[in-house]
Amino acid sequence: MSISVWLDETHTAHKPAGADVEVDVLIIGAGISGTSLAWWLKDSGLSIAIVDKGDIAAGASGRNAGFITCGSVEHYTRQVGRLGEDLAHTLWQHSQENLAMIRDYIVADGGVDCDFRQQGTYSLAGSEHEMRELEESAEMMQQRGIAVSLVDQAHIADKLGARGFFGGALFHDDGECHPVKLVRGIAQLSGASVYSHHEVHRLEPTGDVVRVHTQRAVFRASFVVMATNGLSAQLHPWFADKIYPTRGQILVTEPVAPMMAAPCYCNHVLDYFRQLPDGRVLIGGFRQLAKEAEVGVADTPNPEIHAALEAFLRRHFASLEKARVDYRWAGIMGFSADGQPMVGSLPQHPQVYFMGGFTGHGIGQAFRVAKVLADVMLHGESAGPYSARRFI
Ligand SMILES: Cc1cc2nc3c(=O)[nH]c(=O)nc-3n(C[C@H](O)[C@H](O)[C@H](O)COP(=O)(O)OP(=O)(O)OC[C@H]3O[C@@H](n4cnc5c(N)ncnc54)[C@H](O)[C@@H]3O)c2cc1C
Repeated sequence: MSISVWLDETHTAHKPAGADVEVDVLIIGAGISGTSLAWWLKDSGLSIAIVDKGDIAAGASGRNAGFITCGSVEHYTRQVGRLGEDLAHTLWQHSQENLAMIRDYIVADGGVDCDFRQQGTYSLAGSEHEMRELEESAEMMQQRGIAVSLVDQAHIADKLGARGFFGGALFHDDGECHPVKLVRGIAQLSGASVYSHHEVHRLEPTGDVVRVHTQRAVFRASFVVMATNGLSAQLHPWFADKIYPTRGQILVTEPVAPMMAAPCYCNHVLDYFRQLPDGRVLIGGFRQLAKEAEVGVADTPNPEIHAALEAFLRRHFASLEKARVDYRWAGIMGFSADGQPMVGSLPQHPQVYFMGGFTGHGIGQAFRVAKVLADVMLHGESAGPYSARRFI
């Protein structure tokens, strides 16, 4: 198992369950999804517990790049082409709300120090053709009142220290964070009991109660929520054709002098880089080089992709030609068939809910989507565009 820069420290694990535990709602998965749902349920009067086979944020939530970006997996024009203008805009607005909720409820009201910054993010074009797409996207977005402006090569050299791009777009409302501090903070504010190092190996729905079997204890809950991301199909076969485990790769350099004003995506939102508060530069992506090898649940670094990440570092940043690489890791994302997250309950077991399929953008979406699931559970509301019914 590889270690991310965020998780490279000792952390006190949470309570072991000495005996069997009974709660109203048991959430499986202590990532951004599971902890956010616990936060939204905190005033419901229900008793809430979270179990995880690792510690808090041991999965993708502790292995990502920490971008809190609006929108999702592709340029806005493509999203509009696939989903229609209204839905594309609604989803963009939801991700803006996601960021605002994290900023206001967790960072400001909750006092969680997670290195949150809102200085925008860039999307840089790797070709002239992509630059045209970014220009068309920016025009459409500006018509909808989204704060985006185009930038040229001189701006990129000045603000990001980067070369070899054809221009780009700056999305002014986006942000960034230390994802592990964020998820730990949400977990703490939720007040839920967290049982780490409890791997769930079986769900047993019987009547009004679901028994959840771990190696250390059996949990009994009225409702269970699977927030297990790319590993969901290991626990229930229903997810086998709905959430696909897909690996992402990241490297991080030694600390260098400040050079990047904000995080950047490039090459059609597939590759990305940012500078961390301590000066380290993080580069990720290049899944497109080994798409088949990157399917699966083993979070091991792929040498082919890491060679490409390093070549990208040396090619695009003159000042980093000799920078030492201190961290290399991989993490498992949960991809859905249409790139959008899904929430719902299992057709045969309506007391077993789930949320997942964030397709590499869960920090930018999950807090807001968890509210949708909380409203489904507490008030019987519709999951709207996130309903998993679209796949049935
Ligand atoms: C390399 C990489 C870069 C990324 N960069 C970004 C980014 O910059 N911005 C962004 O928005 N998103 C990014 N993402 C995606 C983001 O990390 C995920 O979408 C998000 O973390 C998903 O959160 P989650 O809580 O649904 O899943 P996870 O964080 O994976 O949590 C699922 C949890 O379930 C637990 N679990 C699974 N099975 C069991 C079981 N049987 N028993 C007990 N526990 C179990 C796991 O241990 C895990 O802790 C990136 C992902 C990767 C891998």
